[in-house]
Amino acid sequence: MKTLLAVNPAKQQFRPYRQFNPAGFNKCINLARQLKGARIIHINSAAIGGGVAELLKNQVPLEKSLGVNSSWLVLQLPKQFFFITKKIHNLLQGQKGFLSEPEKKYYTNKLAKPGMELQKIISSSPQPTVVILHDPQTLPLIDYLPASVSTVVRLHIDTSSANKSMLQTLKPFLEKADKVIVSHKQYAPPWLNKKKLLVSYPAISPFTLKNHALSKKQILQLFKHFRIDTTRPIMAQISRFDPWKDPEGVIESYYLAKKTIPKLQLVLEGVMEAKDDPQAEGIYNRLKMEHQNDPDIFLHGKKTLSDTAYQTWINALQSQSNVILQKSLREGFGLTVTEALWKGKAVIGGNALGIKAQIKNGRNGFIVKSPAECAKRVIQIIQNPSLAKKLGAEGKNTVRKNFLFNRLILDFLKLYAEVL
Ligand code: UDP
Repeated sequence: MKTLLAVNPAKQQFRPYRQFNPAGFNKCINLARQLKGARIIHINSAAIGGGVAELLKNQVPLEKSLGVNSSWLVLQLPKQFFFITKKIHNLLQGQKGFLSEPEKKYYTNKLAKPGMELQKIISSSPQPTVVILHDPQTLPLIDYLPASVSTVVRLHIDTSSANKSMLQTLKPFLEKADKVIVSHKQYAPPWLNKKKLLVSYPAISPFTLKNHALSKKQILQLFKHFRIDTTRPIMAQISRFDPWKDPEGVIESYYLAKKTIPKLQLVLEGVMEAKDDPQAEGIYNRLKMEHQNDPDIFLHGKKTLSDTAYQTWINALQSQSNVILQKSLREGFGLTVTEALWKGKAVIGGNALGIKAQIKNGRNGFIVKSPAECAKRVIQIIQNPSLAKKLGAEGKNTVRKNFLFNRLILDFLKLYAEVL
C-alpha cells in the first residue's frame, strides 16, 4: 500500500483575485512565468479536517491556475504514528513532557517508506523541484530528498513557548531546510539562521462554499436541519476538539453569559475528520457525556451532511451566529477567526499570538484571557448590535487587506523563485 497519496482538489481560478490588489496580481503573473518548467510538491498529513488541509485545498489549485506545476501529497500512516505526532504537536505548543526514545524512533522510522516513495516520484522527472513539508508530521522526510531539490518547511503551529527538548529533536531537520516559514516572528526557533526564515500569514478564499455570501433562506434551512433556534441568541466555536482550543473554557463562558442572557445557545462544531488528530474523539466524548442534558448546547462531532452541504453549513453558522469564539490558549493562526471576520462577525479570541495577529482588541473584535472576561464580551456584543456591526465591518477590512489568498500566493511564488 502506498504511504503517499495524491490529492487533487477542485479547480479554482486566480483571476478573480485581481480586484483586491491589481499590482500584486500582475507580480504573481510574472513570477509564475519565471517558474515555468519547475515542479512544486506540497506534503502534509491530512487531506481533510484542520487548517492545513483547508489551505492546501485552495493554494494548490490557485498555483495551478497560474500555470505553476503544483501538486499535493498526503501521508497515509497508522493511527499510532499520529498519536505520536499529536504528542509532538502538543510539546511544540508548550506542553510539559518529552518524547521517549522508542517514540522518536517510531516517528522517524515510519517516514522511511514515504521517503522512498518520494524519491521515486522526484527521480521520475528531472526538473527543478521545490518540496514543501507542512508541519512536524512530515519533517523527517527531508532526509530522503536529493540535494538538487529545494526544501521548505512550513510550520503552522505556535512554537513561541515550545518544549526545548522537543524543538532540539527537530533541529537537525529544520536546519537542513533551505527555508522555514512560520505564521508569526515569535515562532522562529532561536537558533535558526534568520536568513532562512520567512513569516507568512495563512489566508482564506472569499469565493469558496465556506466563505461566499449565502442567502438567508439557505442559512435558515441549515439551522432548521440542526434544530437550532435562529430567533434566539447563538454563540459558536468551530474547532477541532483540542485542548489548545479550550472547549471547556467556551462552555464555562456560555454558562456565565447565560445567567444574563437565559435564551443563549452554544454551538461547538468540531467534526472529527482530521486523521492526524486522534486526540479529538476522547475530548468530544467526555464533553458530550458532561453536557448532554443541556438542550441549548449543540456539540457536533460527526459529519451528517455531504461535503458541499457541510461547507455551506460552516459558512451559515459563521454568518448567522451573534458572536463567534476562538477561545484558544495557543493558536498558530486560526483560520476560523479569519473566516468569521470575513463574514463581518464580532469575534472573541483567546490571548494567543495567531489570533492577536488578526484581532486588535476593541477595534475589530475582542481578545480575552478568561471565561469570565469572555462571558462579559459575549453579553456586551449580544446586547449591543451596533457595536457588533462596527467590529464586524473593521474585521472584514482587516481580512481584505491582509488575509486573502492573493497575498499568500504572492509570498509563495516569490519564495519558490528565490529557493530555485
Ligand atoms: N473546520 C471545519 N469543521 C470543524 C472544525 C473546523 O470545517 O468542525 C475548519 C474551519 O472552518 C477552518 C479549519 O477547519 O477552515 C480550521 O483551521 P484553523 O486554522 O482554525 O485550526 P487548525 O484546525 O488548523 O488548528
